[in-house]
Amino acid sequence: MTDQIFEYAPAPESRAIVDIAPSYGLFIDGEFREAAEGKVFKTVSPATEEVLSEVAQAGTDDVEAAVRAARAAFTGWSALPGTERAKYIFRIARILQERARELAVLETLDNGKPIRETRDADLPLVAAHFFYYAGWADKLGHAGMGPNPKPLGVAGQVIPWNFPLLMLAWKIAPALATGNTVVLKPAETTPLSALFFADVCRQAGLPKGVVNILTGDGATGAELVAHPGIDKVAFTGSTAVGKAIARTVAGTRKKLTLELGGKGANIVFDDAPIDQAVEGIVNGIYFNQGQVCCAGSRLLVQESVEEELLDSLKRRLATLRVGDPMDKNTDVGAINSAEQLARITALADSGEAEGAERWSAPCELPDSGYWFAPTLFTGVSQAHRIAREEIFGPVLSVLTFRTPDEAVAKANNTPYGLSAGIWTEKGSRILAMANKLRAGVVWANTFNKFDPTSPFGGYQESGFGREGGRHGLEAYLDV
Ligand code: NAD
Repeated sequence: MTDQIFEYAPAPESRAIVDIAPSYGLFIDGEFREAAEGKVFKTVSPATEEVLSEVAQAGTDDVEAAVRAARAAFTGWSALPGTERAKYIFRIARILQERARELAVLETLDNGKPIRETRDADLPLVAAHFFYYAGWADKLGHAGMGPNPKPLGVAGQVIPWNFPLLMLAWKIAPALATGNTVVLKPAETTPLSALFFADVCRQAGLPKGVVNILTGDGATGAELVAHPGIDKVAFTGSTAVGKAIARTVAGTRKKLTLELGGKGANIVFDDAPIDQAVEGIVNGIYFNQGQVCCAGSRLLVQESVEEELLDSLKRRLATLRVGDPMDKNTDVGAINSAEQLARITALADSGEAEGAERWSAPCELPDSGYWFAPTLFTGVSQAHRIAREEIFGPVLSVLTFRTPDEAVAKANNTPYGLSAGIWTEKGSRILAMANKLRAGVVWANTFNKFDPTSPFGGYQESGFGREGGRHGLEAYLDV
């Protein structure tokens, strides 16, 4: 075969389908309103640094107003029969499907992830989540949590920027199905899809106050989780902030779930189909620019196939198309923010400084925006920072092992415990390994696969509580 390089013609998705207003207010009690103190912040496209819109920054009075609205709405919402609540949630799911292209374009502009991912992964999963939990709303008595489980009240929910609308769906869909009302704070770098979701709620005729959206930064999040009118706190984000929230909530009657960081091990045995494993590794760490809590950021490869696997992996990485996330051919888009890019850069530099060998895919990065080439490190030891700390970027640390026991020991040698992957042809080995890996999710011969019916969550410093599936109901019920 000759080494023929194919040129792709640009295939940009049109942004005409989405109409972004120059400014947005907070969504409280069914209405958009300015922040009480009048503060605003800008949200930019990480691929171009273009300012997309100006968004209200919620302060103390706004948190108070939103919690009060959610409390007032709780009485009526929780008293509705499950069949009635389900109608609203099904309606939301259908509107999300109808507006999927608009929301995918919006999410790509605000987050920097490729349109191929928002279109084919984020949005279908968002709708699926609402459909799934809508189905539970009238069956809560059959969920194994008692004959008549009760909602908790007002849920204060804080989410990160890596899957803005999907994390919103993971939070809001089970909360509504179980009869709770919600105050949600999206991340400061990706507020827009949550604000569009507020419009979806209005379109669905959701009673006012059932869903409230407060845009703002960490200070807003801290006020929300500390507010005495909140009955349940659900947080997805970094382990450091998760610990701070656990301290805030300790000693109160608030119920808490934390979905935090990870340092997932993707373990490849010598009998694994190498080409398939390579695709799984790429999907595990370069999907969403590696900004995935359950990313397979540590590759553990059996020594005898290391060279063959790495040769294939590097060949594959050289074919990844990095650049304009709005181009339908793009595989790897922009890093979400300048701050995140600085964190990734610093950690990658520490890898080199500590003696690991760096290899980056040959690609041309755009001049403006925040970019990091798909990168891998070999010669990594377990003591290196890049083997221990979550990089949250397109950077893979490669380690080797000889025996299954060594693989288990190395995989479990982390303060986290969110995900792991196993690549082998032997079914018995998959079961034996899965039993020993301390990770909330273990994928076998695949990676980063999500389904609303399947519970997701962590061990150790990756947090506690489960989202998704029947288990996801429990976090929102008084059981
Ligand atoms: P982050 O913790 O900095 O921010 C997450 C959210 O918390 C944002 O909305 C932020 O404004 C808010 N926040 C910040 N300080 C706060 C405080 N003191 N009190 C309340 N809220 C506060 O995390 P990030 O950088 O946005 O996201 C990346 C992290 O999220 C990674 O560590 C990643 O692993 C984790 N994550 C975990 C999951 C999961 O399901 N386990 C999913 C996605 C992301």
